[in-house]
Amino acid sequence: SQEPAAPPVSGPRLRAALDGIPAYSPGRPAGQEPGSFKLSSNENPYPPLPGVLETAVAAMSSLNRYPDMSAAALFEALAEHFAVPAGHLALGTGSVGIAQQLIQATAGPGDEVIYAWRSFEAYPIITQISGATSVRVPLTATEEHDLPAMADAITDRTRLIFVCTPNNPTGRAIRRAGLTAFLDRVPADVLVVLDEAYREFVRDEQVPDGLELYRERPNVCVLRTFSKAYGLAGMRVGFAVAHEPVAAALRKTAVPFGVSQAAQNAAIASLRAEDALLARVDALVAERGRVAARLAEQGWTVPESQANFVWLRLGEDTSAFAAACEAAGVTVRPFAGEGVRVTVGETEANDIVLRVAGEFRAARG
Ligand code: PMP
Repeated sequence: SQEPAAPPVSGPRLRAALDGIPAYSPGRPAGQEPGSFKLSSNENPYPPLPGVLETAVAAMSSLNRYPDMSAAALFEALAEHFAVPAGHLALGTGSVGIAQQLIQATAGPGDEVIYAWRSFEAYPIITQISGATSVRVPLTATEEHDLPAMADAITDRTRLIFVCTPNNPTGRAIRRAGLTAFLDRVPADVLVVLDEAYREFVRDEQVPDGLELYRERPNVCVLRTFSKAYGLAGMRVGFAVAHEPVAAALRKTAVPFGVSQAAQNAAIASLRAEDALLARVDALVAERGRVAARLAEQGWTVPESQANFVWLRLGEDTSAFAAACEAAGVTVRPFAGEGVRVTVGETEANDIVLRVAGEFRAARG
């Protein structure tokens, strides 16, 4: 007599769209050994301002309550600060949360989402989760968006285009003339998302503020975050500025109560403390200049960064360089076979990277 066959291993059926999606890998988590540094997530090295921290902590006394889902006070503060209608604002669990909502709102199976590559690593993940198709347009040899090629890639299935300026991880930002020429080629029914997570670090005056372009064009949406210049990465709060009906779609796709009251309060306090925070950004920009100049002296080709990180295209040497930094106590972000992105952080950490980079260069001739 035959044993009955074991039942097939079964479990919940998961969508095939998830197959092969790489796990989002942020590098080493916070909570590091003393004397070691994390330059792998483009965080702000400065701790929260006391007033910002206080208002976030104060919100904790009402932890039994849901946050204000309409975020009325934060929307009012943002609307005034950026001179936009409150109805054109949307909040998200970080700007990555809003990027995901934008795809949910515009693209599904069969639709196409265009972005430059390499760029922010969340774009392919959130596109694939939605079931839409990624159309990746390679960066130019100078590590910039190839906007004419991106315009050529538009089809009647294109629903969304991410333009990351400054671009993560290369740091290059897009100048006005090229960006407006590109936008002129985008059909009115295709949404262009200007991902300006690093906007406050831009010093090139020819790089436009995306809000100028949003004001002129109903199909342009601007993505900003409190995670970088404002130093609130741990609070998870980002926002979008978009015309109706995109703003309305963002309200529909938002995770209910996705931005905590502590995050909302901290964001408001940060807008009020902007002078102090932007002085820190100035210091980081100066430090970026110092790091880039030293690397250039050592013989590295460093694309001009307008963000809080620099990009070293290392090709096959990528993992060896990242390992050398790690051994010296600094975690950087390697992209296998391509290069390493190094956040501009604490001076001491930047100095360690510069020492490792100098030695690495000397050893390889
Ligand atoms: N856009 C870009 C280009 C980024 O580099 C990042 C963070 N690395 C984000 C968006 C998301 O940041 P957050 O979700 O913290 O706002």
